[in-house]
Amino acid sequence: VLSERLKKVTTYIPIESVIADIGSDHAYLPCYAVQNGLIKSAIAGEVNQGPFDSALSQVKALRLENQIEVRLGDGLEVVSPNEVNVVVIAGMGGQLISNILNRGKARLEEVHRLILQPNMGAKFIREWLEANGWALITESILEEDEKIYEILVAERTETTNPLSDAERLLGPFLMREKNETFIKKWEREQMNWKRIVNQLEQANPSEEIIDRKRDVLKKIQIVSEALK
Ligand code: SAM
Repeated sequence: VLSERLKKVTTYIPIESVIADIGSDHAYLPCYAVQNGLIKSAIAGEVNQGPFDSALSQVKALRLENQIEVRLGDGLEVVSPNEVNVVVIAGMGGQLISNILNRGKARLEEVHRLILQPNMGAKFIREWLEANGWALITESILEEDEKIYEILVAERTETTNPLSDAERLLGPFLMREKNETFIKKWEREQMNWKRIVNQLEQANPSEEIIDRKRDVLKKIQIVSEALK
C-alpha cells in the first residue's frame, strides 16, 4: 500500500498526465498512479543503482512496463524536453529538490505543473519557484509516522507577486490555513531554534555567531507572529 504522503501527492496530478517521478526509489508512486487510472504513463528516474533496480523489478512484477519506463540518471537528465507535462519530486530535502530543478531547467519547457514534497527546507523550493517564473497554486501539510511533510504544487506564471519572508518560510497557503499539523510543525521548530539560540549564547560572540543568532531570532519572530 502506498503511504498517505505519496497518495496525497497523487491527488495533485491532473488526470491523463504524463509524469516524471524523479528519485522514484521503488517506483511506488507511478505504479499506484497507473494502476488506479490516474495517469497515462510515467518515467521513473533514479540516480542510484540500488533504487533503480528496485524500481525496475517493481514495474516488471506489476507488468507495467508499457506505461512506466525506469531510467537511470541524475535528476531531470532522464527526461527530454517534450516528454512529460508534470514533474513529481518527493521525499528529499528542499535544497536537493531545488538543485535538481535548477540543473534541469531546460527540460521543463513543456512541463506545466510541479508537485514537490520536501522533507525539510521547503523555503529553498519557494525561493527557486519565485526566481524561475513558477507560482504556488496550492500547498498541503500532513503527518505520517510522527513525521510532518509539506507538499508544494506550482504552475508557470507571468505575474510576479513576491512572497513575504514569512510566506517563503512557512508557505503562503499553509500559513493562511494554519491547521493543527502546521502549528505542531512550527512549534517544534521554534523549540529547536530556542535551543540553538541558547547554545549560541554560550559560544564566543564572533561575528559569525552573532549573524547566526540574528537569523534564528528572526525565524522565531516570524513563527511567533504567524502562530498568534
Ligand atoms: N520519491 C520516493 C518517495 O517519496 O518515497 C523516494 C524518496 S527516497 C528518500 C529519495 C530517492 O531519490 C532515493 O532513491 C535516491 O536515490 C534518489 N535521488 C537522490 N538524488 C537524486 C538525483 N539527483 N536524481 C535522481 N534521483 C535521486
